[in-house]
Amino acid sequence: MQEDRIEIVEGDITRQAVDAIVNAANTTLLGGGGVDGAIHRAAGPELLEECRGIGGCPTGQARITKGYRLPAKWVIHTVGPVWRDGNHHEEVLLSSCYQSCFAVAEEHGIRSIAFPSISTGAYGFPMERAARIAVRETRAFLENDKQFEKVLLVCFGRGAWEIHRNAMSENKG
Ligand code: ADP
Repeated sequence: MQEDRIEIVEGDITRQAVDAIVNAANTTLLGGGGVDGAIHRAAGPELLEECRGIGGCPTGQARITKGYRLPAKWVIHTVGPVWRDGNHHEEVLLSSCYQSCFAVAEEHGIRSIAFPSISTGAYGFPMERAARIAVRETRAFLENDKQFEKVLLVCFGRGAWEIHRNAMSENKG
């Protein structure tokens, strides 16, 4: 059952013991604030070094690195859209982030993954809408997947957790 493999958790993504955590990065992949800063601090300087060698990532796509000092073996860096007004492909690009992360994860035999709420911090994407996309894309992926054991949607704070719980109870298949 796909629903059993989705978990909404409140916490810090850098502490999650999963095969891969997802980073909400920017197109340079050279570090930033928010979850990106937290991941680089926890992983150590080798992460930035590996990111430098990648040479950036376009919005909506994903790139993988090792996790270094993190409990997670891998970091999948994806670049969410900056929210403008909803008429600049923001929803399609955010969906593409989730799809790209799952594709990269599959290629690497990853069986558990933790996502932050991509684009909902500095990039200003409304969290209710972002949470619906996160849940929809996760369900769509798991529907055709047998390999994954767990997908965590990691919420930073109680308010974020409640928004994601609500998104999970909407449109239940
Ligand atoms: P973006 O630039 O994609 O908006 P941010 O890092 O600014 O990325 O924010 C994305 C989301 O990650 C926000 O909802 C923010 O509250 C959350 N966040 C920040 N730090 C952490 C963390 N350590 N663990 C999990 N989520 C985090």
